[in-house]
Amino acid sequence: MKKLILLMLSFSSAAFAQNKPKNIIFMVGDGMGVSQIYAGLTANKGHLNLEQVKVIGFHRNQASDNYVTDSAAGATAFATGKQTYNGAIGLDSLKQPSVTLLELAEQKGLSTGLVTTCDITDATPSSFIAHQLKRSMHEEIAADFLKTDVDVVIGGGRKFFEKRVDKRNLLDSLRKKNYQVLGDIQSMASVHQGKLVNLYADENPVKMSEGRGDALLKSTQKAIELVGTNKKGFFVLIEGSQIDWGGHANDAPYAIAEMIDFDSSIGWVLDFARKNKETLVVITADHETGGMALMGGNMKTGEVNAAFTTKGHTGQMIPVFAFGPGADDFSGIYHNYDLFTKMRLALRLGQK
Ligand code: MG
Ligand code: ZN
Repeated sequence: MKKLILLMLSFSSAAFAQNKPKNIIFMVGDGMGVSQIYAGLTANKGHLNLEQVKVIGFHRNQASDNYVTDSAAGATAFATGKQTYNGAIGLDSLKQPSVTLLELAEQKGLSTGLVTTCDITDATPSSFIAHQLKRSMHEEIAADFLKTDVDVVIGGGRKFFEKRVDKRNLLDSLRKKNYQVLGDIQSMASVHQGKLVNLYADENPVKMSEGRGDALLKSTQKAIELVGTNKKGFFVLIEGSQIDWGGHANDAPYAIAEMIDFDSSIGWVLDFARKNKETLVVITADHETGGMALMGGNMKTGEVNAAFTTKGHTGQMIPVFAFGPGADDFSGIYHNYDLFTKMRLALRLGQK
């Protein structure tokens, strides 16, 4: 009897260990509701890489002061586990700084990264690394990048680091902290180790339709290559930022092109996780944008007939897709801030 119990205990702890990932790749399609996903699938003639993911949940995403969240409160909920007010960057509803997943990962010796197709000081990435009252405080947010030992930063917004009201050159400060500082996608190819800040646009990177090409895919691959050498693991945020802007513009082709671009990175990340076996991939959005409805379409021609109900965000539930060890914890309906706890426990990161 005693032997049997011991045997059962060892079985259960082994199963437990196997369900804990060493790494998390957290992917946020800003403004990516179910309609944006299905519009992308239709325009792509019936397929998305995202369809490979079998564990799906939904998150409720109210802000503390509004039924409809913005990207700042949404990302702060993911990053800190706190419901907060629209516009807050890494602060709780009482405007107090709250420790982020990225900071907890750094404290535990994991490598970390932030990859976007917008300003790196925009709401989504900055909620993981900065603590500021308002999302519009780009220069203050940029200065916060020097306070955390993030390993890889790739996105736009170079001007907030080097053309500042306070005349500081934060890129020089980053170089002093041993970062390799770049300003374009191509030159990343020769970087294979060390810390990297690549701010490849002065403001926001251009849209897909204006020639952004495979910048997000190349950024994703480089970030994972650089952080992947850490034996303790890594936490990386990859954002498809401009799906949201297509929604705000009520421009379906814009949202669709950005959706399909984000899905290319999803495909590469899922292939990586399948081979790596120790990586949990969590894919979601902060909110839906545009109140997009699909009035018709054609899977053979890729035609999409979309209508919009608002130039802003909507309050609908948002899907969460999880793949890899620990994925089962992400099914069901829960709050956006529960994603923080789920990811923190998955990586065994310390309590606040
Ligand atoms: Mg965003
Ligand atoms: Zn938005």
